Amino acid sequence: MTNRETIDLTQRFVANTYKRFPVAFTRGRGCCLWDADGREYLDFVAGLAVANLGHSHPKVVEAIKAQAGRLIHTSNLFHIGPQAELARLLCENSFADKVFFCNSGAEANEAAIKLVRKFFASRGERRFKIITMEKSFHGRTMGAMAATGQKKIQAGFEPLLEKFTYVPFGDIQAVSGAMDEMTAAVMVEPIQGEGGVNVAPDGYLEGLKSACRDAGVLLIFDEVQVGMGRTGTLFAYENYGVEPDIMTLAKGLAGGVPIGAMLATDRVAAAFTPGSHASTFGGNFLSTTAALAAVRATLEEGVLDNARRVGAYLFERLNGLRGEFPFIKDIRGKGLIIGMELTVPGADIVNRCLEKGLLINCTGETVLRFIPPLIVTEKEVDAMMGVLKPVLKGCV
Ligand SMILES: *Cc1c(COP(=O)(O)O)cnc(C)c1O
Repeated sequence: MTNRETIDLTQRFVANTYKRFPVAFTRGRGCCLWDADGREYLDFVAGLAVANLGHSHPKVVEAIKAQAGRLIHTSNLFHIGPQAELARLLCENSFADKVFFCNSGAEANEAAIKLVRKFFASRGERRFKIITMEKSFHGRTMGAMAATGQKKIQAGFEPLLEKFTYVPFGDIQAVSGAMDEMTAAVMVEPIQGEGGVNVAPDGYLEGLKSACRDAGVLLIFDEVQVGMGRTGTLFAYENYGVEPDIMTLAKGLAGGVPIGAMLATDRVAAAFTPGSHASTFGGNFLSTTAALAAVRATLEEGVLDNARRVGAYLFERLNGLRGEFPFIKDIRGKGLIIGMELTVPGADIVNRCLEKGLLINCTGETVLRFIPPLIVTEKEVDAMMGVLKPVLKGCV
């Protein structure tokens, strides 16, 4: 199919929930994508922080191929080897003792919300309020949407799931002030992704941790976007030396195969018993085999070092543009999630980059978001800058 044919079919038959660019890719490798008409693009979006190892990483491809030929799915009525191995690998490399597998970030957050309620219910405590942050993003299902502190995402879907309170991101006092004897958990992204690449200020996560500890409240980190090496450590919380009780993962976990995971300490996870929660597809052979290959490659191939080194280089290159372009208001981020806040809307810049074969993303109207594969090179950063800079020049 040509680009045009795919676009026409999509418009006729696919539910109209996305504003899509007029491109249909057919092939990818590393940081490159090719469209149906054979045009090459440099990818600084990575399928929204999913293709962390680049497109079609050979080890992930091989693992999927081999597993698909053996066994794809049996359900959780039975034991699943790669699921158990993946759970061990995630626990050995994090604060967690137990993992629940599902199929997306929203589902991982639903699992976290349910675990919090079950934890206190099983202790006979009436605690069910969850404090989340303004500009947060936790997903589109009813629970995850209620957790999301953005009116525009909730509009038209009321009444929302109750008992969520939103406070400004970065403000510990606001969290303490919102806590009462019915507060069960605080849920936060260590770096807000969709909300505009907002980095936790110094001391914030530590402050949340001690406020939660003092009040007997659980702390949930949503690392769906910033986990799996994005910030230069396997999990973003490692940058802050603060461990949560519960953490959610998805996007980059399985190299592009749908998966979600909710990790928890034994103390909290023990509230889930047979029948508490379930997912037919969750943790099946295909997705967990892909994730095993992806996590191993992340740990063994210098991916985290690369994310730190090239991330610092990208930050410096973007920061270097500030003097030249007064409409750049701020550059912020960690590792390979970097936001460039503008005083003008970013959509035009994104469109013009696309015309020139560069994929970047804009979130919250005015924040250009750079989330390339974690294997991106300095040379590819230079190539990206070679497109971005002339496009920005066209804006002054
Ligand atoms: C993308 C995202 C989600 C939702 O993940 P889905 O797989 O789209 O359901 C949740 N939380 C954060 C922080 C995200 O970036």
